[in-house]
Amino acid sequence: MMAKSKEVLAGKRAKRRIAVVPHTHWDREWYEPFQTFRLRLVRMLDQLLGLLESDPSYARFLLDGQMAVVDDYLAVRPENEERIRALAAAGRLSMGPWYILLDEFLVSGETIVRDLQMGLRRGAAFGSTMEVGYLPDMFGHVAQMPQVLRLAGFEHAVVWRGVPSAVDKTAFVWEALDGSAVRAEYLVTGYGNGASLPSDAKELVRRITDHEKEIGDFLIDDMLFMNGTDHQEPQPWLGRVVEEANAIQDDYALEVTSLADYLRGRRSDGLVTWRGELRSGFRANVLMGVASNRVDVKKAAALAERSLERRAEPLNALFVPAQDWPGALLDLAWLEMVRNAAHDSSCACSVDEVIDAVLVRYAEARRIGDGLAEQALTALQRSLAQPGPTVVNVTARARGGMVEVVVPGEDVPPGTQALPDEPGAFGIPRGMGPLTLDATTVKTILGMLPSGSQIDTHTWIQDVRVEEDESGIDIAIVFGPEERFDVPLASIKQDLYTRLGARPDSIVRIRIDQPAVRRVVARVDAVPGFGWRPFAPAALEHPVTVSEPAADDPAPVVVSNGLVTVLVDGTDGTFAIDGVAGFGRLVEGGDHGDSYNYSPPAGDRLVDTPDSVSVTVTEHGPVRAVAVVTAAYTWPDHVDGVTRARTGSVTVTVTTEIELRAEERAVRVTTRFVNPASDHRLRVHLPLPEPAAESEAECAFAVVRRGLDAEGRPDERGLPTFPSRRFVTAGGLTVAHEGLLEYELVDIEDGPSGRRAGTLALTVLRSTGMLSRLGMSYRPLPAGPLTPVEGLQLRGRPIEARYVLCVGCDDPYALADDAFIPLDVVYSPGGGTRSPTGRALEVEGAEVSAVRRVAGLLEVRVFNPTDRPAQVRTGERSGWLVDLKGRTLEAMDGSFELRPFGIATVRLAGD
Ligand SMILES: [Zn+2]
Repeated sequence: MMAKSKEVLAGKRAKRRIAVVPHTHWDREWYEPFQTFRLRLVRMLDQLLGLLESDPSYARFLLDGQMAVVDDYLAVRPENEERIRALAAAGRLSMGPWYILLDEFLVSGETIVRDLQMGLRRGAAFGSTMEVGYLPDMFGHVAQMPQVLRLAGFEHAVVWRGVPSAVDKTAFVWEALDGSAVRAEYLVTGYGNGASLPSDAKELVRRITDHEKEIGDFLIDDMLFMNGTDHQEPQPWLGRVVEEANAIQDDYALEVTSLADYLRGRRSDGLVTWRGELRSGFRANVLMGVASNRVDVKKAAALAERSLERRAEPLNALFVPAQDWPGALLDLAWLEMVRNAAHDSSCACSVDEVIDAVLVRYAEARRIGDGLAEQALTALQRSLAQPGPTVVNVTARARGGMVEVVVPGEDVPPGTQALPDEPGAFGIPRGMGPLTLDATTVKTILGMLPSGSQIDTHTWIQDVRVEEDESGIDIAIVFGPEERFDVPLASIKQDLYTRLGARPDSIVRIRIDQPAVRRVVARVDAVPGFGWRPFAPAALEHPVTVSEPAADDPAPVVVSNGLVTVLVDGTDGTFAIDGVAGFGRLVEGGDHGDSYNYSPPAGDRLVDTPDSVSVTVTEHGPVRAVAVVTAAYTWPDHVDGVTRARTGSVTVTVTTEIELRAEERAVRVTTRFVNPASDHRLRVHLPLPEPAAESEAECAFAVVRRGLDAEGRPDERGLPTFPSRRFVTAGGLTVAHEGLLEYELVDIEDGPSGRRAGTLALTVLRSTGMLSRLGMSYRPLPAGPLTPVEGLQLRGRPIEARYVLCVGCDDPYALADDAFIPLDVVYSPGGGTRSPTGRALEVEGAEVSAVRRVAGLLEVRVFNPTDRPAQVRTGERSGWLVDLKGRTLEAMDGSFELRPFGIATVRLAGD
């Protein structure tokens, strides 16, 4: 302190410390495919390891905060693992904390947590992990990120994009919705402010002086100089030039250091506090249009997340013995999910080869999830004491709902609704006469049959009878809807082989007995959370009825269940819910933007009127009614590159199914078409029952509230198109969806109580043909390479948009679960030990994010999406609250209090 005052008195300012952090930002895949970037990664790391080992003045290196860089390298250079371990142990190489630098808005909260846990685990294998929430390039940040970081024990974050104008220093306090906070170091001009360091010391000092002028008002004290950028190789002269720069001047003290060392001990006193998400484009692009490009990728992500998080993990944790927990398969699936979470991967701002790979990874993760869920349901099915169909509820809350079930007999049971008959198993019509074949053919068929008794989802072999006389061999196979364990298939097969072998010239007559069954839909009463109960059709208090006008009558089709009434307008194809008209209006406009941003073409013209409309009713209740709107449109073909105006025309037929079920307030909508055009955006407009000044959208572990505007700047229009994970609420309307991440409140008018929006626009499709573009009206400068990417157009691709509308919905989480996580039905053979009705786990009072096994124990992650404290109850089960590293926080005996907007992980004792 004394020395500093003396310097000030002498008119000489104290030396400013310049923390040079050498690093590289390694997008695993982006404008080049993964393997191309990996060749560069191997070259870069080969060079870097040698440099670190031979030059102590190249003191530190930040491996971009993501362990994928290390694993991708070691897959090619396994022999260098010890070298990396030694450098990490010496503090020269920073490991993790992430597995991948993800996008925070386009993946689930669980994916964020798993990414961090995977990175911490992998980093720990090298001795230590960087305990800094390094988030350098993400396209904005979710509101609960500070809480996630705190739950891993971190006190610091490092951010760039999304920081609002309210922050005007190089650090601020970033607070999550629950109040937990980290100190956030703000990279005012990005993670590359010290990229490509000159080898000349004078020039380096000049660079630092210029940068100090550029961001001088932001500086609190020291200056962080991030020496790296996208895929940058290390500059071997770093240590020398830093030493020389220190020798030739007295203004700066340069030091090669690490982020963790730079941040250690830095305090938050006097810093501005920002609470919640960071989505401002005030100083850097936030690239909000990535939420709506390649809608197929977003949907694939939603399906895979649901398969793993909401089905495979809870079903296996609860219904499969702990020792059979399929950890290795789930790890494989999660590795694919986490790799896809990378900001250039899930954001699909990449070349087609990359997006193809992303889709394959999502498909593989989902196949693993679906297969494991099926296995766990089979385990449950076999464990039940009572035979017959049983309904399973894989969500935490007790709930009834509609199920599709196969019942024996010709009749449609009371309270159910028949579905069209399906052909029998193998497509063989029921009641077909015997099939006559020769013995050799039958032998061939036998060899091709699967070994189990299951024929298809609803059909098992119940019995096989073989008889023989002079005229030939008769085989009668009985199919049935329940699994049987007492059919000795192997010995029957062996017996048949013997008989066929003994009489190779004989005739074989095969008869298949398929008892009559009906496929029906029915409503079932509440099934316990994480529980099951025998299938029984519930009495319908609010059956669905349909009134259809005569062919030439312009009156609407009316679908109602007494709780909600839907009128489908045959003139324009829209529908009304409880008197609010205009739902489902498709609004098509041009998009001369790119994968990152929407940007309208010159003189854009919107098309929202169909050329023709027809409405048919395909299901009439009482359990479910479906009206189908078929609408033909003429859309412009593409945007002309020279005039930047839309030109040409194409026709398209769009079908929209509008479904209402008994006892439900939700209206389910599915829109399908084959995209016929390029350079355009299609949104469905949904009128708000009440004008709205804000929206509430689901993001990771929270619902966030947003106004009608977004902060931007001339270089990037502050477009208030926002992401929602599974649902968004505004003006009394809740929309839950399957990966339709982008919404905007539109039709904004000034009223007596301020600006209010009348409509929620949900993006169904955004097609552009460029990774990045120059000179766009909404974002003039490029955000990436100016590469044409045909796949971004999705031209000629089938598009299916699924969403659910609910007016006056009281629980959007329940709405989203009911809409997209159906009740399951298993067909029990009976004879097990599990009681006919029960529940495997009780979790009440909070939303459940994960149920899985960790080291044999049941681990449950919950969050409180409300602003009130919640009492979380786990029935009779006690356990321990743990942090995201699995460290015990406190004991829990059947219940614990969860702070408003809090996230908690609990491990339960016993099985
Ligand atoms: Zn990046």
